[in-house]
Amino acid sequence: MLYVGGKWVEEGEVAVHPEDRGYNFGDGIYEVVRIYKGKMYQWDAHLTRLFRSAREIKMELPWTADELSTLAQQLLEKNNITKDVDATLYLQVSRGISPRVHDIPEKTEPVLMAFARPKARPLADMKKGMTAQLIEDIRWLRCDIKTLNLLGAVLVKQYAKDAGAQDSILHRNGIVTECSSANVFAVKNGALYTHQADNMILHGITRQVVIDLAKENGIPVHEEAFTTDFLKQADEVFLTSTTAEIMPLVSVDGQPVGTGAVGPLSLKLQELFEQHINESVLV
Ligand code: PMP
Repeated sequence: MLYVGGKWVEEGEVAVHPEDRGYNFGDGIYEVVRIYKGKMYQWDAHLTRLFRSAREIKMELPWTADELSTLAQQLLEKNNITKDVDATLYLQVSRGISPRVHDIPEKTEPVLMAFARPKARPLADMKKGMTAQLIEDIRWLRCDIKTLNLLGAVLVKQYAKDAGAQDSILHRNGIVTECSSANVFAVKNGALYTHQADNMILHGITRQVVIDLAKENGIPVHEEAFTTDFLKQADEVFLTSTTAEIMPLVSVDGQPVGTGAVGPLSLKLQELFEQHINESVLV
């Protein structure tokens, strides 16, 4: 069962209006939320980011945070996402339906669509690490907005795949920003480095959890821009996202990162993250 524009519907019954601005322009915003053992992880942070994205694209959401929370819970119940199930919840808001003009129509009603599906954690990849390719960041200059307009992300991911890697690490003129759908961290001499949370990256929720866990455990964190050369000389590299968690990147541009195996700080952070998940499931 999905929630689309105020109704509960089965998947085969969904019809998108031909002049829905999300469909025509990618004019809308979204969130992907992790469900561990039937419980939403970092839901409040996702809601805060959704409302921020809305503000940044001049869209007023007609729902309160409580209404969205109730809806999310109903979605889990209707889809049997019970206490043993790991899943993801996808929620998007299109600006709504209107005759096709570029500027923002005065009166549109945002269309909310949400679904939840079981999804296993990527535990095997987290253990062995993945490969990445450096790709020029061709996206726009408001990567801090979680917009439906994802063509830049689609292309950079495909460029990396075409080059034989599993994911892309993006750079603008040699400055590393993030990955196609994740944030990226480099480890050097026991410290973490990741791009500052400005307009060049999505302010990832997992990124923030990792920064907080690192600081609480005495691991220095530098939120600052670094170069592709710095990345290639790093002891360890990993990406973070809601679905990929803390995913080591053991090779960049075909060359091993550090020893080419998952490094000790990545392992330590994975452990701390695991504890954090377990604690949050118990709350
Ligand atoms: N950057 C980009 C471009 C993303 O699409 C994502 C995934 N939503 C992230 C970073 C990671 O964000 P989060 O940890 O909130 O999933």
